[in-house]
Amino acid sequence: MKAAVLNEGANRLQIEQVPDPAVGPGDVRVRVRACGVCGSDVHATVHPVIPIKTRPRIMGHESAGVIESIGSGVTRVKVGQRVVIGAGTSCGECARCLAGRDNACEKVGVLGFDRDGAFAELITIPERYVHALPDEIPFDQGAILADAVSTPYHALKYTGRLEAGETLAVVGCGGLGVHAILLGRALGAGRVVAVDVEDGALQHAANFGADDVIDARRTKNIGKTLREVTGGVDVIADFSGFYPGLSTCLRALNPRGRAVMVGIGRSKLEVGMPPLMIYRQLCICGSYGCERNAVPELIQLVLAGKLDLSKSITSHHPLEEVNQCLEDLHHRKGNPVRFVIQP
Ligand SMILES: [Zn+2]
Ligand SMILES: [Zn+2]
Repeated sequence: MKAAVLNEGANRLQIEQVPDPAVGPGDVRVRVRACGVCGSDVHATVHPVIPIKTRPRIMGHESAGVIESIGSGVTRVKVGQRVVIGAGTSCGECARCLAGRDNACEKVGVLGFDRDGAFAELITIPERYVHALPDEIPFDQGAILADAVSTPYHALKYTGRLEAGETLAVVGCGGLGVHAILLGRALGAGRVVAVDVEDGALQHAANFGADDVIDARRTKNIGKTLREVTGGVDVIADFSGFYPGLSTCLRALNPRGRAVMVGIGRSKLEVGMPPLMIYRQLCICGSYGCERNAVPELIQLVLAGKLDLSKSITSHHPLEEVNQCLEDLHHRKGNPVRFVIQP
């Protein structure tokens, strides 16, 4: 089969012919119909900050396709079935995995980083990674459910415990942040305010349904501005990974407010006010990936008409254009939300 491979010492993917992945007991092999290009793919290739230790590695973690063959013992899905492939990897055996909390497994990883991914014609994974995709949802929208939508969904609903009527601030409006805006609406947030530093991202934020957009370049104190605009925020979801900004945003939180950190950065988070945190009962927590029920729950939201992903796909590309997509996403050329590879 044809695959986009990250080789030793490389920061671009090489399109190669590689053996079809073998199907063992409990595995399913999927013919990939769509795989989204994620910011984290950029951070492992053209702008390398995430180390990928095991190479050669087939990348790609936001995928959907059709089951092409199944191994012995597979009971939940059958050949010919349309599926979304979850982006996380896990041991499958610990108590958390058995409870469906794969993202809390001690061995949690990412498809395309920790095992071969879906920038390829075929991918083999354990049966538990796949979720049935109804015919009503196209492959490209199904694919991005695996990370761009499910990661912010888990962050808002389960980590941030966003409740109907609450005020949500989304900081960082890239591929995940814009979906946090959509999901804030879908989950009934009373008000959604978006913060970013780039014109394109601010445009997307408004387009994806933010009530207010704050250009962080135009304010000296984002937290103060957030508070002035909203009167107080219940949940802050940070996708920027820029912690000096997040530190000031904490001051806009209402009592019992939650700050959810999703974007991974290198800077220090200075909280600097423990008494205030205690009196105001604030919670700062990290959120990573999603639990196994996220994709099925999101599929129900799409089918119910509560989540419209029609604005999320920027363009479709053959596997050969994956490096161009990574470059363009890195430089935000054409203001992309999601490029989708169709191997
Ligand atoms: Zn991703
Ligand atoms: Zn586990």
